[in-house]
Amino acid sequence: MELWQELLRESVDSSKDLVERFGFDKDLAEKLNKLFHTRINPYYLSLIRYPGDPIWLQCIPDAKELEDDGFPEDPLNEEADSPVPSITHRYPDRVLFLVTSQCSMYCRFCTRKRKVSDSSKINSKWIQDGIDYIAAHPEVRDVVLSGGDPLMVTDYVLERILAGLRAIPHVEIIRLGTKMPCVLPQRITAKLCKMIKKYHPIYVNTHFNHPWECTPEAERACAMLADAGCPVGNQAVLMKGVNDDPDVMLELHRKLLKMRVRPYYIYQADITKGTNYFRTPVRVGLEIMDKLRGHTSGLAVPYFVIDAPGGGGKIPLLPQYVLGRNGNDILLRNFKYEVYTYPDVPETEPELPVPEEKYMRKRNGQKKKAYVPKRTEHEVEHEIELVGK
Ligand code: SF4
Repeated sequence: MELWQELLRESVDSSKDLVERFGFDKDLAEKLNKLFHTRINPYYLSLIRYPGDPIWLQCIPDAKELEDDGFPEDPLNEEADSPVPSITHRYPDRVLFLVTSQCSMYCRFCTRKRKVSDSSKINSKWIQDGIDYIAAHPEVRDVVLSGGDPLMVTDYVLERILAGLRAIPHVEIIRLGTKMPCVLPQRITAKLCKMIKKYHPIYVNTHFNHPWECTPEAERACAMLADAGCPVGNQAVLMKGVNDDPDVMLELHRKLLKMRVRPYYIYQADITKGTNYFRTPVRVGLEIMDKLRGHTSGLAVPYFVIDAPGGGGKIPLLPQYVLGRNGNDILLRNFKYEVYTYPDVPETEPELPVPEEKYMRKRNGQKKKAYVPKRTEHEVEHEIELVGK
């Protein structure tokens, strides 16, 4: 058994543990554990500094999880785009491929609580169905392995999946969506990296939310993945009490860059049932972006996105940098709130078909009359200018 597997076996993972180690009321612990399973491996547990700190909030259940009755279990409507149980096919050229229900730590804010930790909903018996679906859809060039955490499967099973995907000629890139470098960095072994190297291009998207997660162990894991040729990106989730502070996010993103991890997204928290106590006003995310852009290397600045409820996909949000227009000039403000003017390139008037009658009158030097030909919707917008000519 490898070290990461031994650590997993020592996880806090029952309502009994919640009662004995964290003083939970027995009934509450059982209800919470039933709603969404608890698992905290000893490595992640060791990062807690005091009760209620940013690490605690991410892994220890909270009674507030039981209060979200009016909210959806599947706010991103993934099920509607799921042709086979293991696949979500929403975007034209890429799919999400769920290969396991298991994670080394069950994040209390998980947006896929309805499935994660439940092997009746995500199961390895559907892996082959997923590979068959991808093989039958030549438009799929990008496969995101997820779950659960795809690094919860053994190297042997992961290699079978990667080899199966690499045998499909139209699959160009494979992405591993894994939280392991953050929550159980011991999973990133030399053996795993050696195997992954055989199936490039493989990108890794990991998930750090707070600077305290950027430990020497995590740094080592990320360096191993980078040395194995995997570009590593980070997706953080914005959460009340965890990282809803511009200074915390600045520190996190600077640390990630030092760890050779490129910040990719900050997600506005989804409206998933049982997670709403983490949500922050959108303003908070915009203020964080304002604090990052210009104040640190552009490489450390991710996109701030809302994954649109109902399945609209990721929509990026930016602070207001364009203040307005003054004729042809655009008024902009920089990161220090200084205002600058940029002389824009004048738009050339769209070319409209010249009506024969009008053309003839012009050519013969006759006085022009208002002439309103049948117009397309686009042309109607320019009607007044045309009539005035
Ligand atoms: S690791 Fe990912 S899938 Fe697993 S519980 Fe955390 S957020 Fe959910």
